[in-house]
Amino acid sequence: MAAKYVFVTGGVASSLGKGVVAASLGMLLKARGFKVTIQKLDPYLNVDPGTINPYEHGECYVTEDGAETDLDLGHYERFLNQPMSQLNNVTAGRIYSSVIEKERNGDFLGKTVQVIPHITTEIKESIFKITEEEAFDVVILEVGGTVGDIESLPFIEAIRQLQWEKEPSKCVNVHLTLVPYLHSAGELKTKPTQNSVKLLMQAGLKPDLLVCRSDREIGAGIRKKIARFCSVKEQCVIPSVDVPNIYEVPLAMHKNGLDTQVLSSFGITADTMPPPDFKRWNDFLVRYKTPKHKVKISLVGKYIELPDAYKSIIEALTHAATAHRIEVVMDWVSVSSMEEDPERLKDSDGVLVAPGFGERGFEGKIAAVRYAREHKIPFLGICLGLQVACIEFAKNVVGIPDAISEEFSSSGAPIITRIDSLLSEKKMGGTMRLGAWDCELTPRSLASKIYGKDLISERHRHRFEYNPKYANVFEKYGMVISGVNPDTRLAEILELVGHPWFLLVQFHPEYKSAVLEPHPLFSSFVKQCVYEKRSIVSTE
Ligand code: GLN
Repeated sequence: MAAKYVFVTGGVASSLGKGVVAASLGMLLKARGFKVTIQKLDPYLNVDPGTINPYEHGECYVTEDGAETDLDLGHYERFLNQPMSQLNNVTAGRIYSSVIEKERNGDFLGKTVQVIPHITTEIKESIFKITEEEAFDVVILEVGGTVGDIESLPFIEAIRQLQWEKEPSKCVNVHLTLVPYLHSAGELKTKPTQNSVKLLMQAGLKPDLLVCRSDREIGAGIRKKIARFCSVKEQCVIPSVDVPNIYEVPLAMHKNGLDTQVLSSFGITADTMPPPDFKRWNDFLVRYKTPKHKVKISLVGKYIELPDAYKSIIEALTHAATAHRIEVVMDWVSVSSMEEDPERLKDSDGVLVAPGFGERGFEGKIAAVRYAREHKIPFLGICLGLQVACIEFAKNVVGIPDAISEEFSSSGAPIITRIDSLLSEKKMGGTMRLGAWDCELTPRSLASKIYGKDLISERHRHRFEYNPKYANVFEKYGMVISGVNPDTRLAEILELVGHPWFLLVQFHPEYKSAVLEPHPLFSSFVKQCVYEKRSIVSTE
C-alpha cells in the first residue's frame, strides 16, 4: 500500500506541544498495527541544530546514524520505540544549501532558481525519500513553527503541492491551536483558532482535524462553534486539555478520537479493526502515579535554567524510575552554586554531571564530582561528565596537578584529548564521534552487570575523550576502563572500584531510552539512589 500522509501544523502560539501530539498520533497508529514514521520539517536556516545553543532550541538529539537533530525526534523515538534517522529531520538550511549546491553545479540548466518550484521540489523529494528507503503505511509530518511565519511558507507550499499531486484521500491535515480562557469574560475563546485556520487556508491548506489545546475542558458548544467557523466536522475538533505528564497525551488523544478520526479521513473505519492494545502503556502510567520511593537527583549543568536542554536525560530518568515505582525529584544545580558551596549536594541521593560544550562552570562540575566521589553518592558522568570526572580524579586522587582537557587548554597533562590525535587512521568523517558505536564490556564489571551482555552499542556526540595513555596509572588508583570500542580500543566506560556506584560513560545513553524500554544504565542508577538514599524527600 502506498503511504498515507498526516501533516501536523500549529497556529496561534508556539510551544503548544506539536511534537508530543505528532508522537502520540504515531504511537496510536502503531498500536493499531500500522507501520508509522514521523518526519520533522524545521523552518530555520541552520543546516542542523548541532550548532544551535541549547538555550535557543533545547537539546540536540542524536540518532543511530549520527544525525544531529531537533529534540522532537527524541519524542518520536521515545513514544514509538523505533529509531529515526537523518531522513526524519529536514531543515530549511539543508534544503536551501542543497539547492544552492545544485545551482553551482549547473544542474538547473540556466533556469532562474526560485522558491517555487526549486525549493518546494527539494522539500517534496526529502519527504518522498522516507518511503523510498522503507515502506511505511503512514508518514506523519510535523511542520515546525507557527502558520503565518515567513520561514515556514515554503514548507506549507510544498505540502499544498504534494496534496494537489497525490490523491486527496491519502493526505490529512491536523492543525494544532490554542483555545485560551479569558478570565475577564469567564469563557474559552475560539477567535485565535478561527484566525489561525484562516491563515492556514490562505496558504492553501484546509484542516481536516483541529487539535485544540486548552487549560480546561472544551464543552460541546465551543467544539460546535469551532467546527462551524472552521469548516471541520464536529467530531474532528479534538480537545487537548493540559495533562500533568506528557505520556498521558496519547491515551487522552485516543479518548477524544484523534486516531479514529485520522483513520476515518483516510476512509478507514476504526470500528472494524481490533482495538489497540495499550496494556503496557497503561501499566507505565499506573506506576508513574503510584510511586513507592522518592529520590532526589542532582543534575549539574550549564543550562539548568532551561530543562529542555537536558530533555532526553530527564525522560530517561523518568522511564527508568517509573518502571521501579520510583519518583525522581530533580534538583537543578547551577555550576556557580556548586563553586560557591560544595556542601550543596549533601542530601542528594544521586549526582549526574551532564554533557555539554565550553569551559564555563568547569570548576563547579569538578567540585560536584569530588563531593559525590568522596561521599560515596551514586554518580553518573555523561560525556563531558566523564571528562570532568577524569580530570578531577587525575588532580585529586592520582596527583597530576596540571591535568587538563585539550578542549579548554593546550598546556598540561592531556587526560582528555582530541579524538583525531588518538586515532592513527581516520575512522570518522570529520572530527566528531557521532552516532552509534559498539562497546565491548569487561566481564564482571559494574557495566557488564548492568547491561547483562558483552557487546552494546550507544550513541556519541563529542570531539574529545579519555586519553588511554593514563589508563595504567588510573587503574592503580581504582579507576578502571570497563568498556571499549572493539575497533579503536577507545575507552567508552570507566568505573571507580570501591565506590558503590560511580560510572562514567563517553556516550549518551539517554538517547536510547523509550517509555516501554527503559535504559538499563538509568535503571541501575535510580535503583542505587534508592538503596543509598540519604535525602528526606518522601512519598507521603
Ligand atoms: N565538549 C565535550 C567534547 O566535545 C563533551 C561533549 C558532550 O558532552 N556531548 O568532547
